[in-house]
Parts: sequence; C-alpha cells; structure tokens
Amino acid sequence: MKLRIVLLALMIFAGKVGSSAAPEVHALWAHPPEAGTTAESVRAFVAKCKRAHIDVIVMDVKDSNGGLYWKSKKFPQAIARGYENFDMLEHLVREAHAVGIRVDAWLVDYLEGANGAAMRAHPEWAQLNPDGETTLSEKLGKTRPYPYVWMCPAQRPGYTDQWLIPLYEEIATNYKVDSLHHDYVRYPGDVAPDSYCFCDYCLKHIPRYAMLSYQTRADERYRVTPAQNIIHANWWSDPTMVPPNWNDLDRREKADFILNGRTIPGGAPDMRYFFYDYRVHQIDTFVRETTERVKKINPKTEISAAVFKNPILSSRFIGQHWDRWNQWINVYMPMTYRSHFAGSFDAYLEHLTETTERQLEWTGRGRPLYAGIASTYLFREEYLPFDTMRDRLTEMQALAATDAKGRAEKAGLIAAAFEIARRRLAQVVPNVEKELDVLVRSVTSNNGSGATAANVDQLAKRLAAFRADLPPGFLPPEKLSASIRAARRARPDGIAIFAAGSLNREKLWEVLEREFAGQAAN
Ligand SMILES: [Zn+2]
Repeated sequence: MKLRIVLLALMIFAGKVGSSAAPEVHALWAHPPEAGTTAESVRAFVAKCKRAHIDVIVMDVKDSNGGLYWKSKKFPQAIARGYENFDMLEHLVREAHAVGIRVDAWLVDYLEGANGAAMRAHPEWAQLNPDGETTLSEKLGKTRPYPYVWMCPAQRPGYTDQWLIPLYEEIATNYKVDSLHHDYVRYPGDVAPDSYCFCDYCLKHIPRYAMLSYQTRADERYRVTPAQNIIHANWWSDPTMVPPNWNDLDRREKADFILNGRTIPGGAPDMRYFFYDYRVHQIDTFVRETTERVKKINPKTEISAAVFKNPILSSRFIGQHWDRWNQWINVYMPMTYRSHFAGSFDAYLEHLTETTERQLEWTGRGRPLYAGIASTYLFREEYLPFDTMRDRLTEMQALAATDAKGRAEKAGLIAAAFEIARRRLAQVVPNVEKELDVLVRSVTSNNGSGATAANVDQLAKRLAAFRADLPPGFLPPEKLSASIRAARRARPDGIAIFAAGSLNREKLWEVLEREFAGQAAN
C-alpha cells in the first residue's frame, strides 16, 4: 500500500517535471541580404520569421570580410558597403522586439578580409604559419585560393583587445540586442590544423605559457635526472625544455620544435601538446573576457556561440574546447550540420540524435543547447548531379578545341549526371526536365563533338539559374522535417536552423511553419 502511494507520488512528480519543461526554442541564422536595406524590408523579413515560429533571429552583423552592419562609431571605416546610411541592426532589434522575437547579434570573430579595415590598419595582427605567411597562402579544396585572413587571438595588444572586444562592447552599449553571438571563435583548423599561429608573439609565448624554461636565470640549463627507467617519467626533475640555442632558431625551426619536439630528449614527441593547450587557452581567454566586458555594460545581455559538433576533437584541431564554457556562455548552438557527417541521409539522422545527446552530456546540460541544422547540406544527393554537371562544364570550357578525348570524357560525365538529376526533375518540374534535356544533348551528343562554346555556356547558365531559385518541392522538404525530429529526439533546449537565405532558395519556410507550430517558446 505504502509502496503504491510512493509510486503514485513519483508518477505525479515526474509528470509535473515533464510538463513544466521549457518549450523548445527556435533560432534562425540570417545574413544581411535577407533583412535588406530599408525599414520595410526588415519588417517583412521579421514577419516571415514570425510566421515560421522563430523565437530568436541570429543576424550576422560582422561578416567574413570584417564588414559591419551597424553604424559603428568606433570603426566607421569597417561598415559594409551599402549600409553606410542604414543601421540594419537598429531596425532589426526594433521590428523583432515589436513581435516578441529576440535578436542575437552574430559576429564572425577571427576572420577578416584580405583588404578589410582591420588588415589595412594592422597587418601585423594576422596569424602566421611556419613560413611566415598568412592564411591567404592556403588553398580551399585543391586549388582555390583561400580568401580570408585569420587574426591572431593571442597578441596583446592585438586584434582581440584592440578590435574584436571593442566591437562587442559597442553593440552591448548602443543596441538593445538580447545576446551577442560568437562564430569562428577558434583557429583555422579546417584549413590548416597545425600551421597557426607562429607569429613572433606566439613563438615567444607558447614556451612561456607552458613555462618550458625560466625567465629568471634564463642562461642556466638543467638536464633531466634519470631516476626512473622510463626516460620521460623524469619530467618532474625540472630539465630546461627549450633547446639551448632557441634564440638562434628561425621561425620554421622554432615551429618545428613546437610541433615535433620532445619535452624530454629520448622521450615521446610530445611537445605539440603545449601548442594545442596554448590555443585552447587563447580562445577560452577571449570568450571569458568578452563575457566579462559585455556583462559589465549590461548584465542582462547574453552570449551565445556557434561551435563545431565535437568539442573534444575541436579542442585538438581548432582550439575550441567549448564544453568548458558553461560559466561564460548562455546558449550553445553547435553546428551539427550534415556536411560534418560522412554517411547516408538515414545515417545522418541517427548520428544527429546521438551527437546531440553527447553534446548535452559534454556540457552536463549546464547551459541551454540548440541543435544546429543546415538545410543546404541535407540535400547532398539532390545537389550532387547539378554540382557534377557544373564542374564538368567548367572543365569543358577550359579544354583546348582540339582535345576530342577530353571533350568526350566530360560529355559522358555530364550525360551520366543528368540521367540521375532527370528522375527528380521529371517528377516535380517535367517542363524543366524537357528543356534541360535539349540543352544537355546539345553539349553531350556525339561524344561532345558537336558542342559549341555557346552551347556549353548556355547550359552552364541555365543550370546556375535553376540552382539559384529552385522550384518548390524539388528538394524533398521531408528531409528537413526528419532532421528536426531527429534532433528533437535528443531533447535539446532548442533547434537552430542555418540559414534564412537557404530557406528562400530551397523553398523551405513552410517546413518551419509546420514543424515549429505549437512548439513555440513564446
Ligand atoms: Zn600569433
């Protein structure tokens, strides 16, 4: 009898906890073009978000080139072109708040344009690799030049304290945003994981951070005392870990020691541990300082962050140990995008649930976490034949007129890709399928020998136009619904969708209107 009462009480209690759980929050990343440059365009965008039950608009206000989308008084030279006379952030905050939507001002933290205002004024703030080059020397994919400069998080005075944090402070001071939002709060490890930063400041401070030698009695050197058989078990005997000729080494030699050196001669090649730890420390320090400075201005202003999906891997590759940020971050928005998963779409759905569960475990649910889903990458299968045709057409355009073998090869690949694409086209837009069929034949028939430059050009243009404005239903909307539900199974505090522009192009706003109905937080 007693047991029954206890059980009953437990059930009622559990039911209460379940029903009082906070409603799911819906966030949407958006870029300035979606908001436009007039009061009316901002209002229309906000209304669209409201219809889709969006609770939080995360608006990009410092872009990858360092362009700003507010009337910055501190850095007017960095205001993005077209926004000199229109304060997008001010309008957005007013319009969004009028309908009960929160605004997170999203800053692309450590990225700047090659000719951006920060680089023009302070090229010495850029991160350098062992060759003394910036990230402009890197490649995207196999051949495309990398177009952005990553700034060094460590240098003081430098980009962090002289440029970036002042931007956060200015927004917190002058705008009623609900939150500031970190992005690119990390090192460029998705381009070159072990190449940055070896600027003069970092070459000096990595050994200092780990205290690999003393500043006092700097000329004295101590050797390892071999009390234990395992040589690096004697690390605590206080040998001087930087080589005696450290000051004579050049940038490449110093970087080589930091990446490949041994703390104890004869021991494991473990020096790079300190390189990774130093980078994590720099990013942690920036996150902490930003929060302290913003909260000083307005304790109610929150801080959110877009982070990579796995904080353990990202601490090694990009210096982003975000699972340890509970004390500084109000909301996590991990970018659990399909582009970061290898398998089929069905595999992604299962891995999305599992990864979101693990993220909640990593942070101990210490702060709200919104599962980030990027719509574009869900449609890998649908986009692939179009990307293949685009790339092969580009290659075909570059072929010599006499290269019959090359043309035949490209023509075959284009024809094969179109065979895959046409099934979906015939189902959804049969007239487009017929139109493209004619254009594809003009390029691929007779092993491509009949294709003129004009034919190739015409097909490339038609495909680009199709991709830029897809017919409704061409991309299966159920892929987005299924992804939202898969994330939901892990019971995150919210769902964050990337991005408003993709929803326009992919005609997917209705999915949010449907999936988020009745789940809204306000
Ligand atoms: Zn540096």
